[in-house]
Amino acid sequence: MNPLVEIVDLEKVYHTGDVTCRALRGISLEIFPGDFVAVMGPSGSGKSTLLHLVGGLDHHSAGLVKVGEHTLHAMGETARARFRRAHIGFIFQFFHLIDNLTVRANVELPALLVAGRDRRAIRRRSGELLEGLGIADQAEKHPWELSGGQQQRVAIARALINRPTLLLADEPTGNLDSASGREVLNILCEFNQRGQTVLLVTHDVLAAARARRVLFLRDGRIVDCVPGGDVKHISSHRWFSSTRSAGLEVDLLASSCPYTSTVG
Ligand code: ADP
Repeated sequence: MNPLVEIVDLEKVYHTGDVTCRALRGISLEIFPGDFVAVMGPSGSGKSTLLHLVGGLDHHSAGLVKVGEHTLHAMGETARARFRRAHIGFIFQFFHLIDNLTVRANVELPALLVAGRDRRAIRRRSGELLEGLGIADQAEKHPWELSGGQQQRVAIARALINRPTLLLADEPTGNLDSASGREVLNILCEFNQRGQTVLLVTHDVLAAARARRVLFLRDGRIVDCVPGGDVKHISSHRWFSSTRSAGLEVDLLASSCPYTSTVG
């Protein structure tokens, strides 16, 4: 099977005034169609940078990022914007919904930005997504009238409206209570089981355990990769003890994470 995402020796250097930050230092990774990959690592290890580069939100400094047939560095800004709209769905920690649009309008917006799309087909698709995500009755409300969990469902519907090749989720449960977070994870898993490829950045072991593979990042490098599925296995991984002993911040959501249980 050909990889859907091919990343080779990826580097990202940020320049802020006189300060240079090597955020990614040679990442190589393949993601296959239908995969569910979680990325963990301490704050500042480069997780969000990696997600942004794969999604074409930013330019890399060296290396290759290929999504399907699209080689990202070869694209100009307009082509990049078109690529993002057609192929990438983004879900963020803080939802980023537009407050003065209704739920339905938020969901439909990325589809309406694609030239030549049939408005009735878009309406049908948004209706199906809202229904499937259990928020059809919220369609005419505004985001500020919804709970955090409901807002994240709206963001998921918006991310999926254009049937993206790749769904990128950056701490999607980070701003939710544990019950809403679990529901959002269930939704991501359901879509993954139906074939949606997912790349998830998370601090949350419970979230990472839902993935098929968990990558550990440190100082801009992938330092390990383990199978997902088992919370205990992931949280007892030597990466955590080495990171803790180095004094780095690792938010394991310790108060809510029963390390002895496995995720079903
Ligand atoms: P993580 O998501 O793992 O917390 P990030 O990818 O956000 O890590 O950041 C990796 C490194 O790059 C950090 O040292 C961070 O300060 C730096 N960085 C991230 N974004 C920028 C930026 N826009 N400008 C300068 N430095 C940045």
